[in-house]
Amino acid sequence: MTDIIRLLPDNVANQIAAGEVVQRPSSAVKELLENAIDAGATYIKLIIKDAGKALIQVIDNGCGMSETDARLSFERHATSKIKEASDLFNIRTMGFRGEALASVAAIAQVEMKTKRIGDETGTMVVVEGSEVKLQEACQCPEGTSISIKNLFFNVPARRNFLKSNNVELSHILDEFHRVALAFPDISFEMHHNNNEVFHLPPTPLKQRVINIFGNNYNQRLLPVLLESGICNITGFIGKPEAAKKTKGDQFFFVNKRYIRHPYLNHAVSTAFAELLTEKAYPAYFIFIEIDPKEIDINIHPTKTEIKFQDDKSMYAIMKSATTQSLGKFSITPSIDFTIETSFDVPPLRKGETVKQPTIKLNPDYNPFDKLKKETLEAPLTVQNKNNRENWEKLYSRHADNQLELPQMTPKEQPVQQIIPSNMDSEALQMSEKQYFQLHSTFIITSVRSGVMLIHQQLAHERILFEHFSEILEKRVSCPRQKQLFPQVIEFSPADAELMKEIAEDVKILGFEIDDFGLGSFVVNSVPADDPDVNVKQIIEGLLENFKLSRSVVGQDKNTMIAKTMARTMSLKRGKPLQQEEMRSLVDQLFACKLPHTSIEGKPTISIISLEELERKFK
Ligand code: ADP
Ligand code: MG
Repeated sequence: MTDIIRLLPDNVANQIAAGEVVQRPSSAVKELLENAIDAGATYIKLIIKDAGKALIQVIDNGCGMSETDARLSFERHATSKIKEASDLFNIRTMGFRGEALASVAAIAQVEMKTKRIGDETGTMVVVEGSEVKLQEACQCPEGTSISIKNLFFNVPARRNFLKSNNVELSHILDEFHRVALAFPDISFEMHHNNNEVFHLPPTPLKQRVINIFGNNYNQRLLPVLLESGICNITGFIGKPEAAKKTKGDQFFFVNKRYIRHPYLNHAVSTAFAELLTEKAYPAYFIFIEIDPKEIDINIHPTKTEIKFQDDKSMYAIMKSATTQSLGKFSITPSIDFTIETSFDVPPLRKGETVKQPTIKLNPDYNPFDKLKKETLEAPLTVQNKNNRENWEKLYSRHADNQLELPQMTPKEQPVQQIIPSNMDSEALQMSEKQYFQLHSTFIITSVRSGVMLIHQQLAHERILFEHFSEILEKRVSCPRQKQLFPQVIEFSPADAELMKEIAEDVKILGFEIDDFGLGSFVVNSVPADDPDVNVKQIIEGLLENFKLSRSVVGQDKNTMIAKTMARTMSLKRGKPLQQEEMRSLVDQLFACKLPHTSIEGKPTISIISLEELERKFK
């Protein structure tokens, strides 16, 4: 028998390694940007076509490479950044494995032009699927330009695995944000499909945050500063009102390298705990400077996770840095709060907690004005075909199957069942059942099988969700009301891209929001039956959810939009309701396709059976 073990050819080994280093276009973007940083560039330009699927190009004015280095840079384990094992404990560069270019060149068509400062001519190298196709002298500016074309051209399975352009682009934006935040003194540009997405001049960090994430952060950033024997902490945290409903702008950098660290995130969140409701995530841009010997950046191949020698102390330091920063802010709350007018959150008094952004809802907004109108006016659609007056009958039949109910006396039979539908309203009035509200949260009424409790907020979310879903599905636009003084909403470039994606859908729901360029959008109309709606809040909520839902498989856009709208526009717990409002709500709920389930899959209704009640008195 012959021996069977063979060394893999380089191109195969490189392709395997590429699987780890380059998962999607954004990973290639990250590697190229980091190489430009390591080359000492002060100006970096990123050019993207088709969300990186067609082209990723990074141009820098860094140190450039010699002819030999240009060729060697594509070899695996070829790096200028470490020489021996002990260097691993003192890494100050972004890269050090010497794997990135080799990996990229294994799965794409790569063209590099590079020239060192002072050299007469530059070098051009073309590599395709690990094969060097061309190497020659060329004229080019000092620095390096690397183009990656047709990523995964030779790995169709990987290429097919890529998500929509939108999703891939937002991953690229994430990487770009991280690098651009970490190096505010470097000038960055980003272009996508010939549109300039970012133009970031060198600025202090605070201005960089604003230039990237929009003017919303102006007046909403608090400096963090803490020096200790172990590490130094600098950066900014967002004031409580800058917190988002989903994990949005949360950045830790260790020695300028972006990292994820759930434990440190917990430390920051804990410091915020008193000021935020459970569901809001504070914004932070925190830089940790630490001796490289104190960390191990090697535990994850894509290097976004690191391990600190002394995790516990880091936790304590992070928490106290955040607390201190928040503390300074709470003694002088009114100054910054009053200057800012675009965001109508009332100033925070001492001891007061910040509620979820829902406080921005108009307190006088009564969704039942709309509900009532719908109940009376809505034509019989599929949705309300189940005779509304008969919901209880439907429900108790359902309940009967599950519970062994004691025999009812005829007197207890729900009245609606025997009322003919053409009965006049006065008679209905007299015979209609009573509703009670408990703690402005639950609606209680008696049913044949016992007592029914309805969660008012979850019920209303269900009603609105089905209402919006139907509109979105049928694509029949809601009536709109033109705005006399159109409101302008500013978005960060990333959010603006997403906004363009959902503009058509929200238009159907009555919000006409037009692109004004440079991240500004104008709200030209709002839903006619709800002119007081808080557009900004709804749109921000939509974008947050849109980002979140890109990771939820199987959640389509209509569902996501309908859910967000329902959540934002629903009446909340704590809202006192009149008899007529409760009746309307319950009727509408039972006209839904899935009345028993909230849009999150929890129950909207609970029944306490007579049996259970009897038992309590035994
Ligand atoms: P690493 O960054 O881990 O060293 P890479 O494969 O990313 O590995 O790059 C290999 C080498 O190519 C680097 O060590 C560096 O010497 C050189 N290089 C890559 N990109 C550039 C660039 N933009 N400017 C100058 N040199 C570069
Ligand atoms: Mg590198």
